[in-house]
Amino acid sequence: MSTVSELLSQAVAQLKQNESQADDANADAGLLLGHVLQKSSAWLMTWPTKDVSDFDAKTFLKLVSKRQSGTPLAYLLGEWGFMDFMLKVGPGVLVPRPETELLVELAADRIPQAANWNILDLGTGSGAIATALARLRPNSQLHAVERSQHAADIAQSNFDSLAPSVKLHLGSWFEPLLQQDGPNNQFEIIVSNPPYIAEYELELEYLTEEPQEALVAAEDGLADIAHIVENSRPHLKESGWLLIEHGYGQGDAAQKLLTDAGFKDVETVLDLNSLPRVTLGRWIA
Ligand code: GLN
Repeated sequence: MSTVSELLSQAVAQLKQNESQADDANADAGLLLGHVLQKSSAWLMTWPTKDVSDFDAKTFLKLVSKRQSGTPLAYLLGEWGFMDFMLKVGPGVLVPRPETELLVELAADRIPQAANWNILDLGTGSGAIATALARLRPNSQLHAVERSQHAADIAQSNFDSLAPSVKLHLGSWFEPLLQQDGPNNQFEIIVSNPPYIAEYELELEYLTEEPQEALVAAEDGLADIAHIVENSRPHLKESGWLLIEHGYGQGDAAQKLLTDAGFKDVETVLDLNSLPRVTLGRWIA
């Protein structure tokens, strides 16, 4: 039998062997052991000499090995924080990134609290953006589109527990909306965090565990952004907004796509790291 502190030291030593994880080794080890034992990090710090059963120790060390070989911590924990809630995540969906909170905030800023607007989130993945907007603006109706059935299952489970009013549509970008008449295919706001990394980007070397279809796009990473910009107009109500997350080097290209498509008030907003991250514009007929 090992104690809490023995297991943590063993795990930290193992995680530190991998240079890219060294800085997070202590935090990751604590979160993984807390997850296995169903205890908080405060509990782990208070009870370093508690014995851990062989079964739990084995489960924990298996997770540590997976983490060491590059599995995202979020997949091992099965959940990840976004805005002010915990989302269920797993292989097959992108782990929500802090920079995507900017997209949520920019969209929420444009939706009056009392408004009953139709809002669309394209390529919802885990459902992070749609969930956040539905919670921030409960009077509005969120629609989320997702192409992957597996991701859609995860999104639905997040909607069920966090934002049951969100309506999920299975299909690629605007496709599922073309089959419907009426208010469901026109929106005051369309948001998306599409794949935007070019096939040749070096950062993909570190992103091997997450779904490539959620990360990588053709045409220097701009193919899906261009598709969304070019096809959004029939789905936007008069004065409706389109807001798109993109790579930090894609601000000018995204602005050009929106301007060329006839959008007005086009601007790019910087994220917390002062990098161009979201470009938005308004459809004024
Ligand atoms: N921001 C993500 C990353 O760089 C990419 C997300 C995306 O392609 N939509 O890891």
